[in-house]
Amino acid sequence: MTIRENVALAPLTTLRVGGAARYFAESRSEDEVREAVAFAKSRELPLFVLGGGSNLVISDSGWPGLVLKIAIGGIVSPTMQNAPGSSRRFSVGAGVGWDDLAAFAVSQNCAGIECLSGIPGSAGGTPVQNVGAYGQEVAETIESVRALDMQENRIVTLPNPACGFRYRSSIFNRVGQDGERGRYIILQVTFRLRRGGAPCLKYADLQKWFAGRTGAPSLMEVREAVREIRRSKGMLFVSGDADGRSVGSFFKNPVLSEEEVRGLTARAEARGLSVPSYPTLEAQHKVSAAWLVEHSGFGKGFRMGRAGISSKHALALINPGDAEAVDIVALKEAIQRGVEENWGVRLETEPVFVGF
Ligand SMILES: Cc1cc2nc3c(=O)[nH]c(=O)nc-3n(C[C@H](O)[C@H](O)[C@H](O)COP(=O)(O)OP(=O)(O)OC[C@H]3O[C@@H](n4cnc5c(N)ncnc54)[C@H](O)[C@@H]3O)c2cc1C
Repeated sequence: MTIRENVALAPLTTLRVGGAARYFAESRSEDEVREAVAFAKSRELPLFVLGGGSNLVISDSGWPGLVLKIAIGGIVSPTMQNAPGSSRRFSVGAGVGWDDLAAFAVSQNCAGIECLSGIPGSAGGTPVQNVGAYGQEVAETIESVRALDMQENRIVTLPNPACGFRYRSSIFNRVGQDGERGRYIILQVTFRLRRGGAPCLKYADLQKWFAGRTGAPSLMEVREAVREIRRSKGMLFVSGDADGRSVGSFFKNPVLSEEEVRGLTARAEARGLSVPSYPTLEAQHKVSAAWLVEHSGFGKGFRMGRAGISSKHALALINPGDAEAVDIVALKEAIQRGVEENWGVRLETEPVFVGF
């Protein structure tokens, strides 16, 4: 494994902003991960673990220590195994592309992650924020996570409950009492999928897509529909499309108490508006962050300096061409201020800020 110096990080991310890594290594095996960690420890360098770079805002000054890109490949999935019921295990190297895994699972007629098709990044990155979309989240299908515990300096297998999955969070990205951010490097994730299972059609967008057809859609049809819907919303990373030069949704849908929802509804009514209600969001006491952003003066296609909002999705902050991290952060702050002033709601950000 070679350790390089002063490696530009922007091209390794989907947002394409940020400076360089002082040191950079790419690990293709567990031994190489250990080697890189030992290098960082011996020089007392701060370590940042990079997956597919699809959920990152890298600061313009870059990262002062070692950036370790996890490139462990391989999908192990015996077709005959004694998993109970009709499930099938997929043990996946953390560096495998997430959408490649989704495609493979669907091709094997296994259900459970078809609605997560088209999400960029690595398989090892998905447990970190419990990736979710169109009615599915990885917490539902992850059986266990194999990781290097940097505190204990040993490899551990964390069963699903030990990962503490919640909406867009897990022990891997939380700090404080119920978090372990920075402790584990994910090496492999084992998913348990349903052989021949029916696709998930919980979301209205998908129901609309298949409305009027006779017979249930196949897993492959659902995967393709999800990718097409994502493409229409600029939520597919397509090289050369400025609308995809983002981190996906920049803000989480806020979870509000009943009292807060009443306050928000009253504010909207006073302006002759009504807060849209989506059953899937409502069930989790969430309101649409996109609606809040758009009704605070930040519509699709909005530009502020060199940063902007996607022309297809109000939650996707984009780098239209030559934005720097400072431009993205200024826009993010303007939106948070605007939403708070207009609606009394503080929007929480979804991506990871590196080197700020
Ligand atoms: C166009 C677009 C659409 C998106 N749509 C969605 C969506 O629908 N739903 C959703 O949930 N997300 C979405 N995202 C966000 C992003 O794709 C996911 O969060 C993805 O799982 C991040 O994985 P990654 O490998 O790119 O991680 P990175 O961006 O490289 O890293 C993210 C965090 O995970 C950590 N990390 C990564 N790999 C490891 C590892 N092996 N071990 C330990 N820590 C690790 C990093 O240190 C960092 O803290 C979207 C992003 C884009 C650009």
